Amino acid sequence: MAAFFYDLAALAAHAETVKRALPVGVELFYAIKANSEPAILDTLAPIVDGFELSSGGELERAAECRQRLPWVLSGPGKLDTDLRRALELGVEAIHVESLGEIERLAHIADRLGRDQSVFLRVNPELPEAFSTRLNMAGSATPFGLDETDLPSAIALVAASTHLHLHGFHVHAMSHQKSVERHCALMDLLLEKWEQWCALLGPDTRPTHLNVGGGIGVDYLTDTRFNWPALCAHLETRLASLESPPRVRFEIGRYLSAFCGFYAVEVLDRKTSHGEHFLICRGGTHHFRLPAAQGHDHPVIHLPRHRDSANGDPQRFNVVGQLCTPKDVFSRACWLRDIEVGDLLVLPLAGAYGYNISHADFLCHPRPPLFFLSNAPEAAPDVGLSKKPGVAPGLKTTSGVPETP
Ligand SMILES: *Cc1c(COP(=O)(O)O)cnc(C)c1O
Repeated sequence: MAAFFYDLAALAAHAETVKRALPVGVELFYAIKANSEPAILDTLAPIVDGFELSSGGELERAAECRQRLPWVLSGPGKLDTDLRRALELGVEAIHVESLGEIERLAHIADRLGRDQSVFLRVNPELPEAFSTRLNMAGSATPFGLDETDLPSAIALVAASTHLHLHGFHVHAMSHQKSVERHCALMDLLLEKWEQWCALLGPDTRPTHLNVGGGIGVDYLTDTRFNWPALCAHLETRLASLESPPRVRFEIGRYLSAFCGFYAVEVLDRKTSHGEHFLICRGGTHHFRLPAAQGHDHPVIHLPRHRDSANGDPQRFNVVGQLCTPKDVFSRACWLRDIEVGDLLVLPLAGAYGYNISHADFLCHPRPPLFFLSNAPEAAPDVGLSKKPGVAPGLKTTSGVPETP
């Protein structure tokens, strides 16, 4: 078997903790591109203040959610049909990413005769210290407007009949693990906020500063990002401002990463040119994250026909079934007493896991996704002699559960 398991109760508990730590008035949106499975959205909807969407497809996904939340639409390359649909569905704000997009949106809003709130997505000048491997701003990227284009953007919005400028938006970093750096980013954005507001006339002041997401997850050690410290820092900073903006986070990875687990069965073990290999059911076509980020993913060993694993640990390459040397979960996994048929569980698989993977490569079956609800009887039956199917209290999606 190879399957994903999502602990929805743990997801809800974690999201509550993240939300509770925020200073009063600071908003938490979920960036659904991290994981947009309906069960994940339905679990988060009662907790977060809204969803951040980045495509027409994500608009439709959010529209299927049981609870209607405020939505914001970002993303480069929005189609006219996406913009029209967003207005029809009533998104709270559209994050405009270029001068051309403002003109297109103004035209669409005029044609529909609808008022639309917009945020200007800015790609600001950032000090060198803010560069990350996944730069979203501070250098040449397809995202947002240069600060030098802000006066023109503001003029275009002001000249339109139906667009209203309600905020600025910056999603600067992705997978950012240092709380100190993130505190410094918040300080910088709050300074920029004052400068950008000064570009508007004295009677117009936008309400919101959307500071994006990008809170990192440490896949290699068990250290969590110090979210409470970031929140405390932000609270102090906001309290020191005369007229602070309403700050909004739109977080993906840090909300959904921890609830997901990818479980694979060991199909074969072998030694090649002096290195040990465990070849597992599934692979990076289900879970591309470790390969995409170039890290050795942690692995939990579940022995199958014995209570515990004994003996000395050995170093393994843990790989999948694909005929490519890039199909690797870990090159340095220390495990003991592994037998064919044992299960390996890869935690931290709830964000940018299945949905970023090339699921059709090599015509392997798609993995079933199990969503564990709170009910004790919902524990999945991972006994491999049975069809995984749907255990009581579980919901699966993603087509046909594969037969082991
Ligand atoms: C991807 C994305 C996010 C979420 O990023 P995370 O690193 O998952 O928190 C937020 N805002 C925008 C515009 C994005 O593209």
